[in-house]
Amino acid sequence: MSDIAAPEVRLWQWVEDRARAVFRLYGCDEVRTPIPERVEVYVRALGEGTDVVQKEMYSFTDRGGRAIALRPEGTAGVMRYVAGAVAPGQDARLYYLGPMFRAERPQAGRKRQFHQIGVEFIGAASPVADAECIALQVHLMDAWGLAGYDVQVHTRGLPEDQPAVRKGFQDHLRPLISGLCEECRRRFETHPLRILDCKQEECRNIVAGTPPVTSYMSDASRAYFDEVLRLLDAAGVRARVNPQLIRGLDYYAHTIWEITHPALGAQDALAGGGRYRIAMAGRDIEGVGFAVGLERVLLAVQASPQPPTPDPSEPVIWLVTAGGDAARAANLGLLQKLRREGVAAGMDTGGRSMKAQMRAADRSGAAWVAIRGEEELAQGRIKLKRMADGTEDLVTQEELPRRLAGPGLPPLP
Ligand code: AMP
Repeated sequence: MSDIAAPEVRLWQWVEDRARAVFRLYGCDEVRTPIPERVEVYVRALGEGTDVVQKEMYSFTDRGGRAIALRPEGTAGVMRYVAGAVAPGQDARLYYLGPMFRAERPQAGRKRQFHQIGVEFIGAASPVADAECIALQVHLMDAWGLAGYDVQVHTRGLPEDQPAVRKGFQDHLRPLISGLCEECRRRFETHPLRILDCKQEECRNIVAGTPPVTSYMSDASRAYFDEVLRLLDAAGVRARVNPQLIRGLDYYAHTIWEITHPALGAQDALAGGGRYRIAMAGRDIEGVGFAVGLERVLLAVQASPQPPTPDPSEPVIWLVTAGGDAARAANLGLLQKLRREGVAAGMDTGGRSMKAQMRAADRSGAAWVAIRGEEELAQGRIKLKRMADGTEDLVTQEELPRRLAGPGLPPLP
């Protein structure tokens, strides 16, 4: 887990601001769900057998004897919210943003507290919604200035297809089972399709020769996926069909996708998404959504050809007090006046010497320094110094904000 502080946090804020602006264009509203939820919410939504539920949840029993987990992902909590707040048959477009917790083995690209931005389009299965959701995700990548990312799509078919898919896949692999890694030999009975996803060389080689899982699906499921691909094309989204794409959660139905980025190394998944059917509070909630890992977005943004330079937090002006308490009090008054006018301003609070204050002014990175002592105060003047070239001028307090609005300064908010 990491602290996120300046200067890096400014890039986080930039990434978040960009995302909010894009979500606005698609009619998405933010939802903020609690970070702790009942374990049951995750077991229900994600499935008992998934890695997240089996191995990765930070769970504990609270004082009331309830089994609680820190959210390992965002969708389950959103579904719990939707079950209580969105009427059946009604559509909703939601996004969330915040920390997630998984008790994973720490390694490069994997943290125990990490952050995700996610979107959920709640509504019945529709290839248009799926294509639009992927288009939104791609729009987000572009808004972050990312280049070189790879969008891979595939389909899980419907839950009704699963017995045939599972059987077809298992039948094909059965004679080859001894060549699989230990974990995949175990998965063969419990979650055979996960073998498609295995990173071990021996498993990848075996999987490369298997027929596409879509060949075991119904015609209707294949037609749905073909329509998604056609619509992605119409929406101007470049996506590649990856027949080995599987995604680790049980709730997916129909379209699934993943976005990878070359700057990320071994853990190159930037985002993943898909259409789902989730049973929650006696209802089946259908929707399509995705989650993006923000730590990884940050890495990719920093590696982009022209990384953004978020607004600096330097003050525009630094006030220096020459002299006693009256001048200091007057300068505090001026400081507040400037800030109220939208000018970022600072001054020394430690009663330091002029020399120390000038050094602090320099360190602050302010474009201007205003010096005022008893003498200037008596004359109703302020000595204004432009740091770029050292030029000095005497101005009145009223003139000051106008003088600062010169070239090279950020516009007032
Ligand atoms: P998932 O919910 O597993 O589909 O993950 C979605 C995205 O969240 C991934 O593509 C990663 O970018 C990010 N992610 C998942 N787990 C972690 C983690 N432990 N540390 C950092 N990022 C993660």
